[in-house]
Order: sequence, then structure tokens, then C-alpha cells
Amino acid sequence: MENGMFGFPLERCNLKRQQLMKYTGKYKEMAEQFRKDGCDEYMIEKFIRQEMEADEFRKGEGITDMETLRIWKAYPDEAKEMWLHNAFCVNCGKASFKLGYNLRQDKFGVVIEGFCNKCGERIARCCD
Ligand SMILES: [Zn+2]
Repeated sequence: MENGMFGFPLERCNLKRQQLMKYTGKYKEMAEQFRKDGCDEYMIEKFIRQEMEADEFRKGEGITDMETLRIWKAYPDEAKEMWLHNAFCVNCGKASFKLGYNLRQDKFGVVIEGFCNKCGERIARCCD
């Protein structure tokens, strides 16, 4: 069988194109708005695909702050205390975070980023 542009069999691509895209959640709302505005299905699909790609990209960048905060809040208080007071500083060894630390999400979990309470050196700690 002959293959399409991305290596998919052509037949499958054509089949896909004939089906009307089904949107869910916010994409559905967007599609409805576009329809109200008089956009045709082809344009709607194009816009929504762009939005979906942008969302995928953002996912790769790490989850939004709200999501990180939600995960952080779900940890037991003792664990949070332990992480905040058991970081490693190149100058002081065992160190605590100064107030005003940041939380970031990476593939292993939440990472605390901030500064050493004693000397102000930049420190970070993974919550594990
Ligand atoms: Zn230090």
C-alpha cells in the first residue's frame, strides 16, 4: 500500500478527513463559538488543531503553576517541612530555604527552587 506524507497509509488519511471532527471540553466551546461567528468547518478544525498543538506544547513545558500548587498542597505537612529544611547548599551543606521559594514541576515531581537561608546561595530540591 502507498504511504501518505507522514508514513500513514493514504486510505486512513482520507477516511479521517471525511469524518467531522468531534471536539470535547473547551475545544467544543471554541468550535461552537466559531460556528456562531460563521466560520466553516475547515477553518474551525484548523484553529482548534492549532490550539491543541499549543496545549500539547505547554504540557511538555511542565504543568501550570496551579497544577504544581495542587500537588504541593496534597503532600503531608511533615514532608513539606522536611524538604524545606533539608536542601543542599554548596557553601553550608545542609540548608533551609529562605522564604519566597518557587515551586516548579518536572518529570520527577515538584521541585523547590529558592535561596539558602544562611548565605543566600541558589538552592533547589526535588520532592521525593
Ligand atoms: Zn548556604
